[in-house]
Amino acid sequence: MKRRVFSGARPTGKQHLGNYLGAIQNYVNLQEEYECVYCIVDVHALTTLEDTGGLQKNIYDMMLDWLAAGLDPRKSSLFVQSHVPEVMELHTLLSMVTPLGWLLRVPTFKEKARLQPQNINYGLVGYPVLMTADIVLYKAEVVPVGEDQLPHLELAREIARRFNNLFGNTFPEPEAKLTSFPLILGLDGKEKMSKQLNNDIELALSDEETVERIMTAVTDPARRYRDDPGHPEICNIYRLHGYFTPFRLEEIASQCRSAKIGCVECKQLLAQEINATLKPFRERRATLANKPKYIADVLADGAERARVIARETLREVKQKMGLT
Ligand code: SF4
Repeated sequence: MKRRVFSGARPTGKQHLGNYLGAIQNYVNLQEEYECVYCIVDVHALTTLEDTGGLQKNIYDMMLDWLAAGLDPRKSSLFVQSHVPEVMELHTLLSMVTPLGWLLRVPTFKEKARLQPQNINYGLVGYPVLMTADIVLYKAEVVPVGEDQLPHLELAREIARRFNNLFGNTFPEPEAKLTSFPLILGLDGKEKMSKQLNNDIELALSDEETVERIMTAVTDPARRYRDDPGHPEICNIYRLHGYFTPFRLEEIASQCRSAKIGCVECKQLLAQEINATLKPFRERRATLANKPKYIADVLADGAERARVIARETLREVKQKMGLT
């Protein structure tokens, strides 16, 4: 029996290099060792969305990228959070055992409230309870997290523990699988790669679009002319070479420092390596994009498999809480 992993991600549409290097590759690798439950958390997204017009397209595009990147519906349950409505019911039940003080102390609630003062909705406060419901509904034992997400998982463990103390042992306390999610900077070389900041490189771009996009990237600001020596250690293009051209890193650094290579040439080389790496992904994506029903079938099948576990957990919870 493989241990069960749960992870959820917001529907952010077409995925970019930051998503690929930071999360998707990890998801794909975990499939070999664990029984994976991967969910696109559309209900969570509603806490910050004011316009839901693009939600369905974002879910479709994201799942298309996940599948093209190697997530395998035969190995993992892949579905949309709201397609398993039991999670909302469990969220309500868990909210009855979660002290409000625990939720008001969560730093991300304070941060979100600061960022969207016009929309401090109840869902923002209850976010960690819904997140706990996501995990424990499937009795997941392991959750891949970065170090910054450890406090959230600790809260989920506390809620699960409190339920177990009050109503009897029901949920495993989910363990963190600490994962080093590399921080991938965007084309501006300053901020984390993000669609909102328009500093991203989408995985699904064509080869030519990838070259064009990379040509806009900020490099070493001190290197104003072709003959100026560069400082690769402060250049984001060089950092990206670390992922895509690791076998030539030393050579690129030395050529940059001695101005033997120009930034245009260096960027062309990076674009070429990214295009070569993503070639199989892009071919698979093009094939899957021609079968839109396939994505709907994967999501329906994933939700049905998840619901088998969810119904049983909810039945147990309701019985222990005296509701049946
Ligand atoms: S040559 Fe390459 S590593 Fe050096 S500054 Fe230009 S883009 Fe960056």
